[in-house]
Amino acid sequence: MNIQAIRDDTPAVKNLLHFNNAGSALPPKQVLEVIINHLTLESQVGGYEAAAINEKEIENFYQAIAKLINASTDEIAYAENATRAWDMAFYAIPFKKGDRILTGISEYASNYIAYLQVAQQKGVKIEVIPNDSYGQLDVKVLENRIDEKVKLISITHVPTNGGLINPAEAIGQIARKANILYLLDACQSVGQMPIDVEKIGCDILSVTGRKFLRGPRGTGFLYVNKKIVEQLTPPFLDLLSAEWIDKNTYKIREDAKRFENWERYVAGQIGLGTAVDYLLNLGINNVWARIQSLADSLRSKLKSLNKVILHDLGRHKCGIVSFTIKDADPLHIKEQLAKRNINIGISKRPYTLLDMQSRNLEDILRASIHYYNTEEEIEKFITHLLKLSK
Ligand SMILES: *Cc1c(COP(=O)(O)O)cnc(C)c1O
Repeated sequence: MNIQAIRDDTPAVKNLLHFNNAGSALPPKQVLEVIINHLTLESQVGGYEAAAINEKEIENFYQAIAKLINASTDEIAYAENATRAWDMAFYAIPFKKGDRILTGISEYASNYIAYLQVAQQKGVKIEVIPNDSYGQLDVKVLENRIDEKVKLISITHVPTNGGLINPAEAIGQIARKANILYLLDACQSVGQMPIDVEKIGCDILSVTGRKFLRGPRGTGFLYVNKKIVEQLTPPFLDLLSAEWIDKNTYKIREDAKRFENWERYVAGQIGLGTAVDYLLNLGINNVWARIQSLADSLRSKLKSLNKVILHDLGRHKCGIVSFTIKDADPLHIKEQLAKRNINIGISKRPYTLLDMQSRNLEDILRASIHYYNTEEEIEKFITHLLKLSK
């Protein structure tokens, strides 16, 4: 990868050290350009007319994403964020009283809140599978918990609060063998590492645009395997997701667009398609190799600082690096770094409550690396952190 060219496409990095890619990454200028161009066109010719002119660019969204995750275009739905994408599929599952949902300790708050809501409304049971000795979801325990009452296996691939990568593919094998629906929250993994929905064996996958994909805010997508799409009745329908046939009849679409809204942020859809094209052009294997090497380097340098405690779980770790500093308030550290033009994030305890409770953690710092970051930035970051933690 030509890092200089990549950084030239991301002009902000000249004076900003951005380690908050798990929060919202910096988009390449190509992405910004297509968004601005489409918004400008809308203002000049009208919104519907602009969409007609940019029909190919809008359609490219489906093609680019299908290629990235090895799906077909009719298995992709555009959504306004990852949570709504996930919700549209989750609330479409026909749960009955006594059904079981198997999930993991590092589950994201919004997902778990939805399990609780459905558990309370429908008498469904939520069961949390413990972690193995690496801190990953224990696949053996999961396998032992399978019976005919399990309606859904629903897992977060990479949690919001650390470097963990859950064993998505091993979980997929269990789900396939038992013929159980498998929903994967891949919000933090798509854009970082190669994701192949066939290989993983998930039926449903949800992703946001603004994180490792480097797309605009307010965008995301949902993948639903065409073999199961007709088992899922979306909680909301409109004139795109369904057709009004006559006074007493409507018909739901047969493809993943049954989960879409008609009205949407068109410029954002074009922008996210362009962000995925940019990634495909770099090659996801190159991206993943660089993210791992930078994150390893950051972890080993952090480890050498006296007061730093690393919190990442898992056998192989990704670009999200989580830590605390002894006797220091994470918010204070984040604010002090911000004054020096360094962005990092904070993972709050309620975002991944079960995991934070189980490890006795309060809010923690999160430095998330992308391929456009550099070793020099890591050194600069460590230098500043060392001063702040004294
Ligand atoms: C950020 C995040 C989400 C939510 O994504 P939105 O686009 O904000 O809805 C879901 N799951 C995980 C693991 C996340 O990190």
